[in-house]
Amino acid sequence: MTNVPELFGSMVFNEKVMRERLPKATYLALKKTTESAEPLDEGIANVVAAAMKDWAVELGATHFTHWFQPMTGVTAEKHDSFIQPCGSGVIMEFSGKELIKGEPDASSFPSGGIRATFEARGYTTWDPTSPAFVRDGTLYIPTAFCSYTGEVLDKKTPLLRSMERLSAEAVRILHLLGKTDVTHVATTVGPEQEYFLIDRDLYNQRVDLKMTGRTLFGAKAPKGQELEDHYFGSIKTRVAAYMRDLDKELWKLGVLAKTKHNEVAPSQHELAPIFSTSNIATDHNELTMEVMQKVAEKHGLVCLLHEKPFDGINGSGKHNNWSISTNTGENLLSPGKHPETNTQFLLFLAAIVKAVDEYQDLLRITVASAGNDHRLGANEAPPAIISMYLGDDLDALVHSIINGDDYHSHKASRMQTGVGVLTDFKMDNSDRNRTSPFAFTGNKFEFRALGSSLNIGCPNYMLNTMVAEELSQFYDRLKDASDLETAAKALIKDVLTDHQRIIFNGDNYSDEWVQEAERRGLLNLKTLPDAFDHFLDEKNIQLFTKNNIYSEGELRARCEIEFEMYAKQINIEALTMLQMARRDIMPAVSEYIHELSDTAVAKWVISHDISIKAEEKLIKSLSKQLEQFSDLTDELSEAVTKAASVSDPQEKAHYYQQHVLSKMNELRKIGDSMETDTAKKYWPYPSYTDLLFGV
Ligand code: ADP
Ligand code: MG
Repeated sequence: MTNVPELFGSMVFNEKVMRERLPKATYLALKKTTESAEPLDEGIANVVAAAMKDWAVELGATHFTHWFQPMTGVTAEKHDSFIQPCGSGVIMEFSGKELIKGEPDASSFPSGGIRATFEARGYTTWDPTSPAFVRDGTLYIPTAFCSYTGEVLDKKTPLLRSMERLSAEAVRILHLLGKTDVTHVATTVGPEQEYFLIDRDLYNQRVDLKMTGRTLFGAKAPKGQELEDHYFGSIKTRVAAYMRDLDKELWKLGVLAKTKHNEVAPSQHELAPIFSTSNIATDHNELTMEVMQKVAEKHGLVCLLHEKPFDGINGSGKHNNWSISTNTGENLLSPGKHPETNTQFLLFLAAIVKAVDEYQDLLRITVASAGNDHRLGANEAPPAIISMYLGDDLDALVHSIINGDDYHSHKASRMQTGVGVLTDFKMDNSDRNRTSPFAFTGNKFEFRALGSSLNIGCPNYMLNTMVAEELSQFYDRLKDASDLETAAKALIKDVLTDHQRIIFNGDNYSDEWVQEAERRGLLNLKTLPDAFDHFLDEKNIQLFTKNNIYSEGELRARCEIEFEMYAKQINIEALTMLQMARRDIMPAVSEYIHELSDTAVAKWVISHDISIKAEEKLIKSLSKQLEQFSDLTDELSEAVTKAASVSDPQEKAHYYQQHVLSKMNELRKIGDSMETDTAKKYWPYPSYTDLLFGV
């Protein structure tokens, strides 16, 4: 039995440890820094560093690392030991300076051309709002990452900036409404994380999974997810053991791992934590993804976080549950019993509606990746069209505001099961709409278009910034109103009327919606290159520069990095496919044809009466497919060569999308058909059946 309360946070330099180990004055100074976003004094940093080091060493740490989130999308770390020469030996030391500032050589991280290599110095700066922790003998210090000249090079800095912006604007509005006791507002996030677990030995036999995280070939298994028997199904012993271990490791690190279950696709699972502030939720989600993969190793498994590891069954996403709370403990997205008279709630709701409509492109952009392009628009994840769902109740309220009608609440009714022993209970007053990309779920919004491997800092800084911007416009309109209530009501009505096109409560997967959305003038950006074409639109540059999230130069750099990374990823996929096709698949099919031919000849020699029709049919069909496959391999190879020669990053990304991906799809189709026709013992890779039903 595990004593969970004791285990929880045992590797984290948290409040409790700080109170125990820091002198009171230092503790209070540090707390003030984290709460008021003031810079930390070096003297205090020295005391904190020494205490942190002593604590970490007691937990077996010999090293420390500044842990940061560069633009690659995966976390980065460089480990330094605590040793300092002393006489003929060493002592363990850690200074405030080392805690506050690190200097990794930044030249090998993507910067989108904002830094020349001769000035490749980069700095990491301690983020005291996210607690340090010990893992594998190293003290991890969450940090932000910027260049020598101050440009942002990471995903944490914009998030922290956006949280401060949203707080400032929300507080101004709340003060207008008379809530002067509110000094700070924080955004909260609970990310639900999907993943696949497959057997390690099988994984090792698939070069595509190893190189790209997804299968590039693979005929469908006879059974997929059509029986819907995996979702919430009983958890297999080996998977259960993994999940138990994973929970323990996460709890030690202070991650509030809460819910676990099987997902829709075979071998697919989900883990959801209890929500925390956006910053900590982001760090914890990064940590969760790393620990998921580490723990899998111990169990002879591999955890796949790619958005679409397998064709023909669901891919993996992440639901970003997002809300805003005050330091006085109020959730600003809670409608209360009477939303129709809750001006505060309606103002925040209107700000979000306006933000989602005006910045639909940014919400789509923020979830764009080569991997996620395979999900959005397919019949599983939300579509590439951004819209929002409010539920029947709020939708009725919004319509009554727009039309000036009376509003009748649907009132939460009681669920009567009709079975005596079961307790009746109050029903939620809105059902779920699983197909909506951005759904109101009672007291929070759930942004569902995220890919499973995404750093959630990105969608969250976008959300925070765009809502901050709308709130600042609201403030300007309301600040001098003689009758605030009337002015606020008029504002809410105007905004909801102007932006009602973004609200859609129907089936987001239907073809009718695609047409309806087009009539409404909503964007349908199907791929990363299509989406990022909008990133530098004037309104977006305005949004980020006005709110001090990015300079225009930083924005341009980010856009370039995204186009480049996309092209590089598809390039790797195409090269992997070519290697598989030429070195494994074609030789295997050839060999099988050879065996079939030998068999046919042998039969013929024995007697002309023995039928060789079956062999003949297969030989003919496979030979024909092999020829097409070989031609397509050459065509793909040519497309890759051409794509590589395009120098402009944006053009290059489009080229890969249009000419390379499409050839890859054609090649795969024939490859998969040959797999279906080829004897198992000749096929060079474990099949979908092995992979998906092998744990
Ligand atoms: P639902 O059943 O509507 O999906 P859950 O209670 O299961 O809601 O929560 C789903 C996720 O949303 C969890 O990770 C949870 O912590 C998170 N969540 C709940 N309330 C909030 C909030 N106020 N802010 C952010 N996330 C939240
Ligand atoms: Mg949910």
